[in-house]
Amino acid sequence: MKLYFLGTAGGRTVTFKRIRNSGGILLKAGRELIHIDPGPGGFINFFSTPFEPWKDLTAVVLSHLHLDHSADANSILESATESGKRKGVKLFAPRDALFGESRVVLPYIQTLVEVKRVKEFESYNLKEVTLKVLHKHRHHRVEVYSLLFEWKGKRVIYVPCGKFENYWLDFLPDGVDLMILNSTFYAKREEIDHLSIPDVVEILKTKKPKKAVITHYSLEMLTRNPVKVAKEINSLTGVETLPAQDLMVLEI
Ligand SMILES: [Zn+2]
Ligand SMILES: [Zn+2]
Repeated sequence: MKLYFLGTAGGRTVTFKRIRNSGGILLKAGRELIHIDPGPGGFINFFSTPFEPWKDLTAVVLSHLHLDHSADANSILESATESGKRKGVKLFAPRDALFGESRVVLPYIQTLVEVKRVKEFESYNLKEVTLKVLHKHRHHRVEVYSLLFEWKGKRVIYVPCGKFENYWLDFLPDGVDLMILNSTFYAKREEIDHLSIPDVVEILKTKKPKKAVITHYSLEMLTRNPVKVAKEINSLTGVETLPAQDLMVLEI
């Protein structure tokens, strides 16, 4: 399994002042290529990888509807489906990202793909990868879920934005191959529904994945220097922790 971190920006300032790239993560596993959270730049940054959406992309997964996770979903799906000619591309997203006033994927684009509304604790079989929806997050009144991707015995967990609460530990499996954490803040901020480093440390100490990646940085995290922060997490938890960088490729 190979992961391409197209962008590492998190939150309004770093994303929308383009201090770092944004655009989500590509997960390549066998014949499967999944674009997770194609935020702004997801379409453009895709072309820094060896892939072409209309040949390689098999699915798009949105963890939630916020623009830093979804802004390029329409463009990437238009490209991947060749405007409707290429069938079978899948879109997984929460209900509020698909329907009603809050929807972020255009109704026209939804007719070009196989749409699956993700629900807590459900599993979906893609071509080669199984997507499992773990627990729901509290995150500024939108639906967000932690996601598990499984391929040939390898397990990757993506923990998107949200306020850490202890019940998460009941639903996150132990000892996975990789855990990607949207570690937006260094210090805990009770009033904002985002992960901070003390939360990350608690999760990693308890769940002991083989490897962890921190990403989705706020300005505060960049000031702290993610390279140093990752080392700090490593020494506190014993879990090898990598600070994601724009266009980083990671094989597991
Ligand atoms: Zn968000
Ligand atoms: Zn976010």
